[in-house]
Amino acid sequence: MSSFAPSEFAPSKFATCPGLFQPSVARDGLLSRLRIPGGLLTVSQCEAIADLADQAGGGYVTVTNRANVQIRELQVSIDGDQLAHLQAVGLASPVTEIDALRNIMCSPTAGIDRQQLLDTRPFVAEWNRYLTTRPDFAVLSPKFSVCFDGGETVSVRDRPNDISLVAVAIDDEIYFRLHLSLGDRGASPRETDILIRPEESLQVLIAMTEVYRDYTMQTLGNSSRQKPRLRTLLHDWGLETYLRTIISRLPFLLEQKARILLQGNEEIDHNSFSNSYHHLGIHAQRQPGLFYVGVVLPLGRLETTQLRGLATITARYGSGILRITPWQTVLLSDLPTSEISVVMQEVEQLGLSGSSTHSHSAIVACSGTTGCKSSATNTQADALVLAAHLEQHIVLDRPINIHFSGCEKSCAQHSASDITLLGITTERYRVYVGDGDSNFGRLLYQNYRSTQLPDLVEQILRVYQTCRSHWHETFRSFVDRHTIVELQQLLDQARLTP
Ligand code: SF4
Repeated sequence: MSSFAPSEFAPSKFATCPGLFQPSVARDGLLSRLRIPGGLLTVSQCEAIADLADQAGGGYVTVTNRANVQIRELQVSIDGDQLAHLQAVGLASPVTEIDALRNIMCSPTAGIDRQQLLDTRPFVAEWNRYLTTRPDFAVLSPKFSVCFDGGETVSVRDRPNDISLVAVAIDDEIYFRLHLSLGDRGASPRETDILIRPEESLQVLIAMTEVYRDYTMQTLGNSSRQKPRLRTLLHDWGLETYLRTIISRLPFLLEQKARILLQGNEEIDHNSFSNSYHHLGIHAQRQPGLFYVGVVLPLGRLETTQLRGLATITARYGSGILRITPWQTVLLSDLPTSEISVVMQEVEQLGLSGSSTHSHSAIVACSGTTGCKSSATNTQADALVLAAHLEQHIVLDRPINIHFSGCEKSCAQHSASDITLLGITTERYRVYVGDGDSNFGRLLYQNYRSTQLPDLVEQILRVYQTCRSHWHETFRSFVDRHTIVELQQLLDQARLTP
């Protein structure tokens, strides 16, 4: 285990990816990020995080879109004793240099999902154990990310990750299909024709990471250039060369095996992706008689009293584990039928909601002007005003994903949303809807005053609810089948209608 001294953890204003051992400087104080592999938190880990946020931070934490936990508004650096305690409860890497690498992702319903092909939690734990003992991997870009998707209803295969291992069933056997970040920044990883036996996945991941490490070292040489992403390697070498190099390091013939297995198997499992927010509310687990509850966190924020309260609920009625999701929500799992109503009551007493149609259920916002100097607008405050307005003025019948971003970097959500509000100058936003030419969707309005956004979004949602072709039509399909001019006309008509 590496030893450390507090001086090693001096904050860096140049750190673009904060870690626990290298907090970054935000406008509202220091920002530290804890990796939570698989998003799984024990009760004692919840308590350690809440204690830390109370002692050194602003008394709250935020859940990120990688199922990390951030402690914000730290006025002093976390000291050596606090870090040692975090290591003792499994919240910090034994090898400190590795801690900045991105979190390992899996479905928040891993192990309890009725549709899953295999439980990915042991794979997350195994890869994390291995990764955190390899100081030589610290040379990698801190954005290096690995994901395991077990074929759950709550799928994470489309989340932007460098490497995704996605479970598929072929001829009654389960494999991981390799998906890689072959596209642009923020794009979902693309599937390859490589199949990996689950029991061989650790060796394959090690080989993939070592080849990437060697490329990184060659690329950097003695220079201080930016560390290359895995997709840089893939664009530079091409997929074939990367795979050939990996295979040369393995004691088994991965590529040949993939080709043989794929013969005559065009019908590889392509489950349609579920709506990302369907995990909210009450759901039956694969274990008979047990349920999980998806809890909405307004803008991913949890006061420390709420964090402790959720930990108490899961310890009392469930598995003693909080499951943090990449949608900035939390799941409480393994709840017997008889305890569901009391759990829902206790969640509400904490000021939280287990309703998928709560106005906050699918609104996300980056840190905005209070936390980030790049932000044009106060995204957090504007998002809270919008959520309060929607709560008062419209009844949602499904989650609508609304994304506030203070600049084009899109930290809060890389994937497409239903409505994107992009800050351009103080108190002004561009409004995008659905899918389109840019990552944000199609431009609906070029320049909209923030104070008028709540009315506009309410009108957009009313037009959708009134004009959708049938109840099942999603917001995205509705806007995508209309031209922008048609949508603007529908909104103009709605404004004229009392
Ligand atoms: S999206 Fe832009 S403004 Fe928002 S946190 Fe990221 S860099 Fe800052």
